[in-house]
Amino acid sequence: MKRLGVLGWPVAHSRSPAMHNAAFRALGMTDWHYQRLPVPPEVFTETVKALRGSGFVGANVTIPHKEAALALADEASDAAREIGAANTLELREDGSIRASNTDAPGLLEALPRDPRGATALVLGAGGSARACLWALREAGAARVAVWNRTAERARALAEELGVDQVDRPEPADILVNCTSVGLSDGRFKDLPLDADSLGRYEIVVDLVYRSGGTELIARAREHGCSVVDGLEILVRQGALSFATWTDRQPPIEVMREAARGSVSGRQGLGQLPSTPDGGSLSGPGDG
Ligand code: NAP
Repeated sequence: MKRLGVLGWPVAHSRSPAMHNAAFRALGMTDWHYQRLPVPPEVFTETVKALRGSGFVGANVTIPHKEAALALADEASDAAREIGAANTLELREDGSIRASNTDAPGLLEALPRDPRGATALVLGAGGSARACLWALREAGAARVAVWNRTAERARALAEELGVDQVDRPEPADILVNCTSVGLSDGRFKDLPLDADSLGRYEIVVDLVYRSGGTELIARAREHGCSVVDGLEILVRQGALSFATWTDRQPPIEVMREAARGSVSGRQGLGQLPSTPDGGSLSGPGDG
């Protein structure tokens, strides 16, 4: 049995097991299995190092371990090093660990247009903003700007990555929400954006995903924007991780259907659904 998993804390709501196991079934890879790996930060490194001995050949890494994953790796892709975070680990037979980052190329693959020459605005200055800013800059966007609630964090990140920092959202071809706004209630009232201003963006991407979708995506669609939701970002990064571990062409449609099926879109905004144990279906929203 070749085992894979997603390391996170918390990770109970991750869609990745459904998505990857559906891909294994579709390709007849009956000896592969993907599972959740809830691991607190204090035992992250020792747990990763022990995984190979239990049959694991790789893992995804999500909140809050992406920086630690890069730090423990013996080898890392240039992108992971430059971004400063890894979401994919390969656990090799000789015991060595290779880290890479599929969040950045995942964003580019999900976009409906090549960002070369486009202007882009990223909201947020956390881990996912870092990957998205790097990806857009590397892809040749003409201007990449970052806005964050805590301006000082945006300033530091802009300086590190060689992008621009703005004090309020400005018009752009591509808007990417990398804040966690919307995760708990779907709304974007905590962002300095009003629905009518969304028409200033050709493409709106929301990394947040939750049952029923987010208001940002719903309003952007109403204003004629092309939209990319957080589930599509999840599927794209997952497909790239899948290819890294298996050397197989990922069955994207199967993965998309499995990820979307495990987040039923039937509930409308404002009707936050509950799991049978009373918990919210909106989880950390990635991985
Ligand atoms: P993170 O490192 O914790 O960063 C959170 C960001 O959100 C910070 O910039 C923070 O601003 C901002 N923020 C939080 N609450 C806010 C509020 N009330 N108003 C304005 N800004 C607020 O998180 P992350 O890893 O970058 O992830 C961000 C989101 O993307 C999460 O919801 C995560 O689930 C989602 N995500 C999805 C995928 C996917 O595959 N779809 C992948 C990665 C992440 P301050 O600096 O001011 O605190």
